[in-house]
Amino acid sequence: MNKIYIDAYKCVHCGACTSICKNNALTIDKNKYTLSFNEGKCVGCERCIDACPLRAIAIRVELRWLCV
Ligand code: SF4
Ligand code: SF4
Repeated sequence: MNKIYIDAYKCVHCGACTSICKNNALTIDKNKYTLSFNEGKCVGCERCIDACPLRAIAIRVELRWLCV
């Protein structure tokens, strides 16, 4: 499972990350000035990180081990 971390102090709600995310994992509400992340839709491609002009996004990839 991947987790995106958004620095709310840096984010200016420009929408660059939501536009580039093909999985609709990021959604922006320009009226409320909020950026939401849906963990279940994120595939960890990191395109949003490169797209953010303010470097407001970081990702942590969590590894899960399966025991058999
Ligand atoms: S890492 Fe990829 S899938 Fe996840 S939110 Fe960013 S652009 Fe979307
Ligand atoms: S690209 Fe960066 S500044 Fe723009 S909405 Fe996304 S996190 Fe905020």
